[in-house]
Amino acid sequence: MAELVNVFNLKKYFELRKGLFKSVSSQVRAVDDISFSIGKGETLGLVGESGSGKSTVARLIMKLITPTSGSILFENTDVVNATHRMEKNLRKQMGIVFQDPSVSMNPRATILWSLRRPLLANGTARYLADSKIKQVLKKVNLGRECLERYPHQLSGGQLQRVSVARALLLQPQLLVLDEPTSALDISVQAQVLNVLLDLQQEFGLSYLFITHDLNVVRYISDRVAIMYLGKLMEIGPVDLVMKHPLHPYTRGLDSSSPPLSPHQRGRGRLLLSETPPSLIELSPGCRLSPRCPFSTEACQQVVPELRQMEAGHWVACHKAGNI
Ligand code: ADP
Ligand code: MG
Repeated sequence: MAELVNVFNLKKYFELRKGLFKSVSSQVRAVDDISFSIGKGETLGLVGESGSGKSTVARLIMKLITPTSGSILFENTDVVNATHRMEKNLRKQMGIVFQDPSVSMNPRATILWSLRRPLLANGTARYLADSKIKQVLKKVNLGRECLERYPHQLSGGQLQRVSVARALLLQPQLLVLDEPTSALDISVQAQVLNVLLDLQQEFGLSYLFITHDLNVVRYISDRVAIMYLGKLMEIGPVDLVMKHPLHPYTRGLDSSSPPLSPHQRGRGRLLLSETPPSLIELSPGCRLSPRCPFSTEACQQVVPELRQMEAGHWVACHKAGNI
């Protein structure tokens, strides 16, 4: 499969200044040396608990923030070092949908106004903009009557479909969807997911789909990447990763997955309700080691690299294959 996005050794450290004199600074290693790609027409699910760095990855790819180091290629365009002109073109190629549509939509403007804005800003004539808007609305199963409404007059599911429509207006190749269905009722979630699947079929779109819901990820993704405290723990085809998770963290996330091994039933399960450790004071080894029932001396000292365990299925665990 041809690749649309390639991410190499991406890092984003946030500097925090503490204390009265702001002399003590510390770093939050929100994204810490991760590499992955997204194929054309593919959905990569990005899964992890809150605080694992998923939204930071989304913002880096969208060029909303600059990385500390590493590179991002979008169809061979260097996203990080793009010139102003290249950046404008890149922005048309990527759309983003956030978790809460009522926040990302101007509450005092009609839906028509919110949808026209990106088109007019890109120099589209108004009559062309309006015909484009009507076409796109149809694609997300919304009628024209919603154009005169204000965000509070639409349901959550309708509003999220407006956000998807807005992200599609400039005909991007990639949609970054940051927990787009987390704020919706289950029945409405399915509507939005099905619209996304249809759109992908029709336009060959690529999706980076961020979620913490494994059922959603199973339904929508081709491949899945599991993230924990800034690191990729496991990545591979969704069927392999979900049916035979090899990383203790992935198994802990998925309460329906088989126990790690028969004699470890009970203690083999990670306690993920436990507060995750701080991103500031990290141990030198595997980030999971303080919570992992299989942790050894080596795990506490040496960061595990991703290793390919079967076709396309990579795992960052010293003990993968032996637990
Ligand atoms: P997720 O989307 O997986 O919940 P985020 O990417 O939002 O995770 O955050 C990852 C970590 O980075 C968190 O610890 C968060 O507090 C921290 N973080 C995110 N943005 C900033 C920022 N602008 N300044 C400082 N810390 C940040
Ligand atoms: Mg987030």
